[in-house]
Amino acid sequence: MCLTTSYFEVMVHLDQFFLYKKSLLLLRRKMSKHEKDVQLMGKRIGIVLFLLFVLAGCMNQEVATTEENVLDKEGQTIIQTEQDAPLISPEEEKKNIILEDLNMRKDTVLNQDYGESVEFGEYVSGVKTRMKTNDKVIALTLDACGGENGSGYDYALMDFLLENKIKANLFINARWIEVQKEAFMELASNPLFEIENHGTEHRPLSTVPKSAWGIASTSTKSEIVDEITDNQEKILTLTGKQPRFFRSGTAFYDDVSVQMAEDLGVEIVNFDVIGDGGATFTKEQVEESMLLATAGSIIILHMNQPNSETAEGVKSAILTLLEQGFSFVHLHEYELE
Ligand SMILES: [Zn+2]
Repeated sequence: MCLTTSYFEVMVHLDQFFLYKKSLLLLRRKMSKHEKDVQLMGKRIGIVLFLLFVLAGCMNQEVATTEENVLDKEGQTIIQTEQDAPLISPEEEKKNIILEDLNMRKDTVLNQDYGESVEFGEYVSGVKTRMKTNDKVIALTLDACGGENGSGYDYALMDFLLENKIKANLFINARWIEVQKEAFMELASNPLFEIENHGTEHRPLSTVPKSAWGIASTSTKSEIVDEITDNQEKILTLTGKQPRFFRSGTAFYDDVSVQMAEDLGVEIVNFDVIGDGGATFTKEQVEESMLLATAGSIIILHMNQPNSETAEGVKSAILTLLEQGFSFVHLHEYELE
């Protein structure tokens, strides 16, 4: 019984044991299959990711290249835009047109045969000295000569003109602009004043060597052109406007240089009344001279000698001339003769 029972119990236990083992094997097989599936899936995911990565890389590269191309194209377009249709202001465009015209005129003048000069002085053929009118008008022309002893600024004179709203044409030399840039810009921006050209180096104009007031003249066509156009360009660059009138240093010319100036687009303007004798007159002399003015007179004065008596003389004379019914105008308002 006991043995039978025991045998029976052993058999049952054995049976249970094999069943358990079988379950374990099955489970292990299942696990193993699952692991394999996981491994396989991992590999597949890896391959897919790798392909995606490669694909994405290629695509990125393609996008980047495309972007670079676009950027390149855009860059080129911008450059082309700048080259083909530069974005410049109307003022700059106007300046460029004037400069182009001036350069063309220079070429023409330098290549033209003007023959030999026969006159030299302040009143040679073609130099304008008056306004052609019977109106009681006077043009004040104020020179600023520049140079070592000529680069001052006569505030008393200019402040008087400003306060009394007296118009004037200011003949400015390039050297004066260099020293008095701030004052120049202020004067140029005031419609009471018109800026004219008083030469680059303040030299008399001549095609052959001459001198006036101890100052040596130009002696070639090229020097005449430079004396006029260098300052012309300087004033144009600073103000956006090109002077219409020119007066040389000393106001001396030969007849060829007067013709050349006209061909360069400027009119040479001297005077019929010497107002301050190069800023050497006493205030009485200045007043006396200015009161000689008649209808259409052009008076020469200087605005660069603050230690002179010019300002005091001008003040008295202008008050008297206003009382006499004269008014002060700009040169361009009348035809010149
Ligand atoms: Zn001068």
